[in-house]
Amino acid sequence: MITKEEGIILSVDDYKEYDALLKVVLKESGLFTFILKGAKKLSGKNNKLTMPFLKAEFIYEKKEYKTIASLQKGSLIENYYRKDDLLKLSGLEVIADITLKIGDDYNLYEEVKQSFEAALEYPLPLVCALYMAKVSKLLGFNPIIDGCVICSNPKVVAISNNDGGFLCERHALNKPKSPVKSLRNFRLINKADFKDLKVLKEYDYDKNDFILEAEFFFYHADFKIKSYPFFKSLLNMF
Ligand SMILES: [Zn+2]
Repeated sequence: MITKEEGIILSVDDYKEYDALLKVVLKESGLFTFILKGAKKLSGKNNKLTMPFLKAEFIYEKKEYKTIASLQKGSLIENYYRKDDLLKLSGLEVIADITLKIGDDYNLYEEVKQSFEAALEYPLPLVCALYMAKVSKLLGFNPIIDGCVICSNPKVVAISNNDGGFLCERHALNKPKSPVKSLRNFRLINKADFKDLKVLKEYDYDKNDFILEAEFFFYHADFKIKSYPFFKSLLNMF
């Protein structure tokens, strides 16, 4: 059945001499791979879709249980790729890589689309942190943020990755304490939605807040991605 579906390109790899492989997240079908025939030929009709982070409409022949197809036609809808902005690109790559890791179990099209749109307007550490918070809820390891993990005391002083959330003074013992601002922003990001990004930006959600969220995320996720340490080192340079 010939199908027309909207999707976002997460990665592009070379394939054979003239072709490319696009890994995309499709609105209805989730993670999917397209073979882009003749992508590397200058005259190829498909050579406009050889960059990641584009939203496009894909026309292909859908077959039951198949998650790979030759792309018949693709047309660009929106370009989120910013070639001169390494920080933005590597932040988008973090979102794309997480999606590629877990996208077979959950269709993350809406979350990816909202993150990529938000990235046009908001700082990448904030957008990436919100994406991670959303994904951790889906995977069921979001932090406990209404009080101490152990005694529910609402007066908390530390974030503990291995305890799974906040700790009070009594239970934090020799764990490093976090500043009040970090605790507040950790709570907010894990309760937030995309419409709340403006408020979080006004609360000065910064790269240190992002790193707290990301370290919590990767402590609990059973996978690693190479783009995260790279993004983190870029953030620490600025
Ligand atoms: Zn406690």
